[in-house]
Amino acid sequence: MTHLSSPLFERMLEQIEAMPVVDCHEHMMGPAGRPEYKEPIAALVHGYVLSDLWSAAFGVTGRDVNRLADPDVSTDDKWPLFERLWHATEHTAYARVTKLLLKSVYGQDTITRETLDRIAERLSAQDEAAYFRTIDQAGIQALLVDVLGWLPKGLGSFLDGSTTFPDKWRPLISLPQMHPTALNWGTITSVGALADMHITSLDEYVEAVSVVFERCIERGVVGIKDQSAYGRSLTYDLVCQADAERLFNRVLVDPRNNLGWPEGKPLSDYLFHAFMRLARDFDLPVQLHTGHMAGIRNRVDKTNAAQLTSVLELHQEVHFDLFHGNWPYLGDLLFLGKNYPNVSLDCCWLHIIDPPYAVELLKRSVYTLPHTKVHGFGGDYGDVPEYVVGHLQIARQNIACALTDLIETGWLNEEQALSLAEDWLFNNPNRFFGLKLERV
Ligand SMILES: [Zn+2]
Repeated sequence: MTHLSSPLFERMLEQIEAMPVVDCHEHMMGPAGRPEYKEPIAALVHGYVLSDLWSAAFGVTGRDVNRLADPDVSTDDKWPLFERLWHATEHTAYARVTKLLLKSVYGQDTITRETLDRIAERLSAQDEAAYFRTIDQAGIQALLVDVLGWLPKGLGSFLDGSTTFPDKWRPLISLPQMHPTALNWGTITSVGALADMHITSLDEYVEAVSVVFERCIERGVVGIKDQSAYGRSLTYDLVCQADAERLFNRVLVDPRNNLGWPEGKPLSDYLFHAFMRLARDFDLPVQLHTGHMAGIRNRVDKTNAAQLTSVLELHQEVHFDLFHGNWPYLGDLLFLGKNYPNVSLDCCWLHIIDPPYAVELLKRSVYTLPHTKVHGFGGDYGDVPEYVVGHLQIARQNIACALTDLIETGWLNEEQALSLAEDWLFNNPNRFFGLKLERV
């Protein structure tokens, strides 16, 4: 960033690093979910950096790229491909997280065939105590986790109490599988089973989801999360019940029937709106994926949050938390945040998608919308806390950079800027998600 050597930036960063953090989005289950790292390249390509390596891999199969993350493939087998792709990728923000933990966890400055052997010797040191220590030392007070959709023992194990989470975990309901792009008999019966119901109509299906929501709330969920944008557009039409029911009944009448896409879209749309009414009734905030997606070869135009306009206008009593800076559609997102009282902006993942964009978003959000509507950080990683902490380090730099700019241009004084940083990182999400955390 432009301010790295300025005393004002250093002063801001030092204070921001001491602030408590509500981590607004993770896919972490707890220490039991931690992948076992037996091989150093697999340990260094966790999460998003693999997408950048893949993007560099012209002429290489996806299977070969995925082998880089496979701990059972030997380092020698991987090294020639990894060396080439890492050389092409090492300056991206995803790769910067790898470089940060290369230094902080393994004490290495560069990746060479020799340093990989030294990293291999330290892989076994990542135990359960280290997992929690890493989170605690970073100042993270709570983590909003989206894992209920892929628990090893299923959502039922959360509802019956046999799957539990560590103290700082705050789970959210995972919504996409309840209004999938291709609904089938299996979805209907599994949702019914969670509610102890046998479903014979569309109305009963929505009722079953309502029961599931109620049971999830009893187990401590703090909201709903939906990342359907990976597989469909964010245009949710208002569909007549009869049209949705016709599609639902086609599956119901014969368990061997499946709905395809896009023919199943009206039903998915109808159910999404029905679930937003449940979100209102149960007072559950809704996190929505917008913008950039993990992986490669997807279409970003279908994820622009501008397509949510009718949802945001209709469901005025639902609080929406729009993710990822809607990257790369910054102006559209700022408009939504400025224009709708029920919309907040969530910078999760954004700080390592595009750091200058994150700085730009934070700065322009100060000029354009109430600062109470910005959530500053979410790691969006799996169960490797070192990656979350590396990401948080970059996020804190981005926040310090944005605020330094605003002080230098005379828009804010230092005290105001630090108060904004506290709101972004802690106070706003603490209030928005009803976490009731004490400031430590
Ligand atoms: Zn995520």
